Amino acid sequence: MARIVMKFGGTSVADLPRIHNVARHVKREVDAGHEVAVVVSAMSGKTNELVAWVQGMPKATGANSPFYDAREYDAVVASGEQVTSGLLAIALQSMGIHARSWQGWQIPIRTDNAHGAARIADIDGSFLIKRFGEGQVAVIAGFQGIAPDNRIATLGRGGSDTSAVAIAAAVKADRCDIYTDVDGVYTTDPRIEPKARRLPKVSFEEMLEMASLGAKVLQVRSVELAMVHKVRTFVRSSFEDPDAPGMGDLLNPPGTLICDEDEIVEQQVVTGIAYARDEAQVSLRRVADRPGVAAGIFGPLAEANINVDMIVQNISEDGKFTDMTFTVPTGDLDKARVVLDKVKQTVGFDVIQSEAGMSKVSVIGIGMRSHAGVAATAFKALSEKGINIRAITTSEIKISILIDSAYTELAVRTLHSVYGLDKQ
Ligand code: ASP
Ligand code: MG
Repeated sequence: MARIVMKFGGTSVADLPRIHNVARHVKREVDAGHEVAVVVSAMSGKTNELVAWVQGMPKATGANSPFYDAREYDAVVASGEQVTSGLLAIALQSMGIHARSWQGWQIPIRTDNAHGAARIADIDGSFLIKRFGEGQVAVIAGFQGIAPDNRIATLGRGGSDTSAVAIAAAVKADRCDIYTDVDGVYTTDPRIEPKARRLPKVSFEEMLEMASLGAKVLQVRSVELAMVHKVRTFVRSSFEDPDAPGMGDLLNPPGTLICDEDEIVEQQVVTGIAYARDEAQVSLRRVADRPGVAAGIFGPLAEANINVDMIVQNISEDGKFTDMTFTVPTGDLDKARVVLDKVKQTVGFDVIQSEAGMSKVSVIGIGMRSHAGVAATAFKALSEKGINIRAITTSEIKISILIDSAYTELAVRTLHSVYGLDKQ
């Protein structure tokens, strides 16, 4: 017997037939004698609709914030998961399974006070462990919890992945299965490179990079949590026949296992190629070369909640001036320019140049730690295709390269093949 947390995303519960299909996946595990808790998202598109409704409301009169009240945003958008948890419990009951829906506050899943993007602070596993003891399948509304102000809080878009992993950690589950509309994590986006392969296993660290870089299968926070609590997490498809052979395999179900790197025996040097479009490049020319300049630039950008990514500073030639280049999401470019204009005088630089329409392509793999020449291989391959590199950043397990967006597909395919990812 094992203890399994099963999470189903929006496309898996998009309509009543699909909810019934999800119930069959749950039944398979229950029939095998496992203790099962389920976490559900809202029906696909539902959260977007709820968010749009909130945004369509007039702002409170006299409010000094240009935004609506985040507590009421949470009250509205958390409702999508309430619906699917109830519907799935009904579907399970119709199959003779003892099932009951639970909202975040009933467990309780305690969060911090950051309404709209709350973090889970604590889950007492004993409530759910008691349900296991009663032979009950708890169907838990994902994406939501209860904040210290005693109000519903939501965990940010995609947050039901994080609910599932946090619950798995709290009840010490043997496995957390994230069911979605793809059958695992791929070496790169199969829509760009049809030769992309499904990875049988990927380490927490690599998955963290892939998720941060735009592989949208998992919310980044859920991967962080899985890494900290060492939750063995599977990404698998709910669209496969629930009763197909191997679907109930305890150790090797079909999908991608996200696990500790020690578990990955045959480590490749490079595991995957990720990309993010809609990056903008900002260059500040003739920046004074003295202490405090970087803080003077990036402090105000951080305060404005602008996510700065690649940062490149030149060594000054004359000891007086240098250039500073960095990237921001294209959607934040105008806001960034306003912030930079304000600090221009105090920090001291000449001009702000910016260009949207960039992409960041990244090579990821923990094997890089012990292999030289991985970056050189990428640069050579891109140069042979005539792709100009605008900026480069590296970490221990990642090389990121900024290029013109028009070359995104070509760069992804080139890198995917040069590291042999389309073989095997
Ligand atoms: N329904 C929420 C969203 O669309 C949470 C989730 O699906 O993970 O963001
Ligand atoms: Mg999701």
